Amino acid sequence: MKYLEEFSDPVLAGKLVEQIHATVTKPWAMMEVCGGQTHTIVRHGIDQLLPDGVEMIHGPGCPVCVTPLEIIDKALEIAAQPDVIFCSFGDMLRVPGSERDLFRIKSQGGDVRVVYSPLDALRVAQENPDKQVVFFGIGFETTAPPNAMTVYQAKKLGIPNFSLLVSHVRVPPAIEAIMQSPSCRVQGFLAAGHVCSVMGTTEYPELADKYGVPIVVTGFEPLDILAGILRTVSQLEKGEHVLENAYQRAVRDEGNPAAIAMLADVFETTDRAWRGIGMIPQSGWRLSERYREYDAEYRFQVQDITTQESTVCRSGEVLQGLIKPHECSAFGTLCTPRNPLGATMVSSEGACAAYYLYRRLETPVEVVSSGG
Ligand code: SF4
Repeated sequence: MKYLEEFSDPVLAGKLVEQIHATVTKPWAMMEVCGGQTHTIVRHGIDQLLPDGVEMIHGPGCPVCVTPLEIIDKALEIAAQPDVIFCSFGDMLRVPGSERDLFRIKSQGGDVRVVYSPLDALRVAQENPDKQVVFFGIGFETTAPPNAMTVYQAKKLGIPNFSLLVSHVRVPPAIEAIMQSPSCRVQGFLAAGHVCSVMGTTEYPELADKYGVPIVVTGFEPLDILAGILRTVSQLEKGEHVLENAYQRAVRDEGNPAAIAMLADVFETTDRAWRGIGMIPQSGWRLSERYREYDAEYRFQVQDITTQESTVCRSGEVLQGLIKPHECSAFGTLCTPRNPLGATMVSSEGACAAYYLYRRLETPVEVVSSGG
């Protein structure tokens, strides 16, 4: 196939759906890791085309959603300081902190700017040498390399007034945490194709073997998702649990060596708290000792952060696949994209936003897991 729309071809999609129905003999529950995959599934109603009892559990792979409240509150504290220009991608501006968000800081006179690349923030720093310029570096393995490269450039060019507020997270430790949860129902994973295009696939065979779950590297278009589901249920029905790459047009086993080398130079792994989930050992990156002077947390020493989560928001359960968004009592009433109570309603990759956007308002069907 040559063009992206061909990956939405309804005839081919129908054939894949038929193959899935012909393969499945019992209920299965699998998790799509990435919020982008969740949006494709909900938008195209893919989960509603699957055989009865085959459930898609929506995973925590939305970078905005899992950024811990403490980091959001730190960002707000830093952004409110008078000599700071705080730069961020647009999707972080509405994410609620304990009491306010970046839009509120901006409306109160803070210099909060939306940029389209961390290198834009670096240019702002060059143009404003009398200001401290901070870029909010969040996300998975996909956004970490350009942020690493920007810090590398800042050091190389000697730009002292730039720093990065870092909250990067890694997928494989999250899969481990999900599988170790006593309430885990996941029997197979659609791994995030774009993460694997950066990091490769070498971390996954061990996880598939250790937890006895198929892991299928999957893309983001409807045919990608259906192919990933077909490969996953095929393994489950045969009692297999290996890594498969169903996104070969973008993913090589070794990933992107230049990006991986840049990450290894600038970052080091660290324990990281995930919003709604909690601390996951070695699941994040922070700037390594060599680049520590560019770490906004060290530069600004923001102390006395007391976080206060919404008492009604159940995004932690949504992120762990324990409930569907419309099972939250605030969904679509107290909580909407215009007035979000939790990050999963803000982000374009958040599961609550996907359910709201594509009008998934009905009571979910009870699904019985086989435990197989
Ligand atoms: S609908 Fe809103 S309040 Fe409920 S879990 Fe989602 S983000 Fe939180």
